[in-house]
Amino acid sequence: MIAESSMVCHECDLLVDVPQLDVRQKAFCPRCNYMLAANRPYAQRVVFAFATSGLLFLILANAFPFLGFSAKGQERTVTLLQSVAILVTENLPLLAAVVFASIIAIPAMFLVSIIYVSFSLANERLYPGTSTTLRWALLLLPWSMAEIFLIGILVSFIKIVAIADVALGASFWSYALFTVCITVVVLHLDKRELWERVHSLHHD
Ligand SMILES: [Zn+2]
Repeated sequence: MIAESSMVCHECDLLVDVPQLDVRQKAFCPRCNYMLAANRPYAQRVVFAFATSGLLFLILANAFPFLGFSAKGQERTVTLLQSVAILVTENLPLLAAVVFASIIAIPAMFLVSIIYVSFSLANERLYPGTSTTLRWALLLLPWSMAEIFLIGILVSFIKIVAIADVALGASFWSYALFTVCITVVVLHLDKRELWERVHSLHHD
């Protein structure tokens, strides 16, 4: 439940007393009709469910072969981490670090942070560092490039198929599902609403 609070309209700077909102209720600015606040526990549940599933799929994506190659009678499989480690052996350690961060570490930290904040909001209690965690999650988000990586893999896949037999491993599908989950989380994430809810817990 979002408690009554006064807030400044982001569009026209009018100070508005926003009453306590029931589920599915929204509050609009009386002057410019900008949406000031919304109570959408449904979106919050979607965020929590898909963040949790996304994290599980990301863990699974590191547990099985990612891609398998066979050419001239030789077979080889690589895991997701091995595909990053290849960059280190190719003398590109900085690139390896950036790739590791943007396709695994940052998305994982983002999901863990969102799960932590969702727990705090669901229990209507401010856990230690909830505000800091939310701030970091939103700062990290632009550096998560899971979906770009997935598209890159598919483009390379189409090219490699011409010269070798390539098979997509279980980890590839886990990573694809993880990407779907993180996208659903981002689509249901309402930054303003999250901050409203976190701030309303501060005042209790
Ligand atoms: Zn306004």
